[in-house]
Amino acid sequence: MNLRPHHALCIQKFTGHGYDMDFTRHMTGVVSALRNNPDTPVCLVSGPDELCSHCPNCREGRCSTQEKVEIMDARAAALCGVKPGDRLTWAELSGAARERIFAAQGFEQVCSACQWFDLCRNTKI
Ligand code: SF4
Ligand code: SF4
Repeated sequence: MNLRPHHALCIQKFTGHGYDMDFTRHMTGVVSALRNNPDTPVCLVSGPDELCSHCPNCREGRCSTQEKVEIMDARAAALCGVKPGDRLTWAELSGAARERIFAAQGFEQVCSACQWFDLCRNTKI
């Protein structure tokens, strides 16, 4: 599964809210699949990924908030010690995000500009 680095956080903080019904339904399925199969292979990408594929903000291969998500991706990747092109399992990626971002006070550094920040800040994982 292709994932942008910062989506390692979004997937773990997901509580059923999304941009529209199609996005939310699809993300619900992705979150469930990864929870049930933590050994799922993941490839980190710098562009549109599995979640973007059903997002109304993805137009012609670009996110409508491209600059913002590139910063979030870069910060999440740096903190997790990964880069686009890396291949690992969901267990490894989600574990790195928990240990190096959520447990290390990195969440605000990555996510403070996101519209979902308050919701995710109050969501326990
Ligand atoms: S605040 Fe935004 S970027 Fe961060 S985990 Fe939540 S939805 Fe994802
Ligand atoms: S298109 Fe943008 S807002 Fe939509 S899931 Fe992808 S990165 Fe997030």
